[in-house]
Amino acid sequence: MLLELDPLYILLIAIIVFLSSYLLISYLRESSTQKKEEKGKIVTVKKCLSCNYVLNKPYDKGEYVGRVGEKCPKCGGEMMVTAIYLETPPQPQEAIS
Ligand SMILES: [Zn+2]
Repeated sequence: MLLELDPLYILLIAIIVFLSSYLLISYLRESSTQKKEEKGKIVTVKKCLSCNYVLNKPYDKGEYVGRVGEKCPKCGGEMMVTAIYLETPPQPQEAIS
């Protein structure tokens, strides 16, 4: 009976196990970061022209930078859209590099 375990055979199994787990982890990590990116939301930054009150709100259809017309919740003055950007949750640096 040949029941001696070849060190090369053990090494091969170890490499296969390592590689498959590594692929699984990287796949899971990738899918989770993709989900996070999908959750990124568009934010509209509005600034009051009277009291400089800044308001961050979820983007609404039809909004654009420079749009005015909304009332400031603080002083009732006119608010202007100063920026619209996509807010992405902070991602671990190791996943990018
Ligand atoms: Zn104001």
